[in-house]
Formats: sequence, C-alpha cells, structure tokens
Amino acid sequence: MVELADTHALGACGIISRGGSSPLFGIYYLENKNMIKKLAKPFQEVLLEKRLCVGCTYPLDKATKSGKLSDNRTMVQCKCRRRYVYDKELNEYRRATFAEEQQILKELNH
Ligand SMILES: [Zn+2]
Repeated sequence: MVELADTHALGACGIISRGGSSPLFGIYYLENKNMIKKLAKPFQEVLLEKRLCVGCTYPLDKATKSGKLSDNRTMVQCKCRRRYVYDKELNEYRRATFAEEQQILKELNH
C-alpha cells in the first residue's frame, strides 16, 4: 500500500510540473478553477428550483409537512432534517430561516 501511495504522489507531481512548464495549461487551469467557483454558489439554488433538497436531493414535494407559517407558507422537513418553506403564491421552495424554524417549533410544542 505504501508503494502504491508513493507512486500516486509521484504521478501527481508529474502533472503539476508539466502544467508549470506550459504557461497555456497553467492559465487554462486557473480559469477553470474560477469557473467552478462561480458555478458552485448557485448550485443550491438550482436544486431548489428543481424542488430538491440541497443536502440530499430528496424531492421536497414528498417531504413531511411540519406546519403552516401563514396562509401561503408551509414549512416542510426533509428526511435529512433540513427545513424548507414552501411558498404557495410563488410555487417554490426556499430554505427556512431561523425565525421560521422557531415559529414552527413553538407551535409544535403547544
Ligand atoms: Zn434532505
């Protein structure tokens, strides 16, 4: 196993030094890294648009309803315990805020 790890490390070094010797490759690598950063942020929003849990991608339409926040807002809880608010008017899900979680917990305790 040690031998394998060493081989792998050497291989990685080889790739890095090759990238360094080629300026074009280096620039491409950096740009690619920035693109990934830009794409990584709205990924949770994309999942929510698809009505999926951002943590486990479970369909939120099948999540358990925890209670009503108002006439148009229902709180749901995913099987991974993340809470979301379903907005009936907008017909979309978003992450529940701390205040909304507290409101539901209070109502559940009554
Ligand atoms: Zn989940």
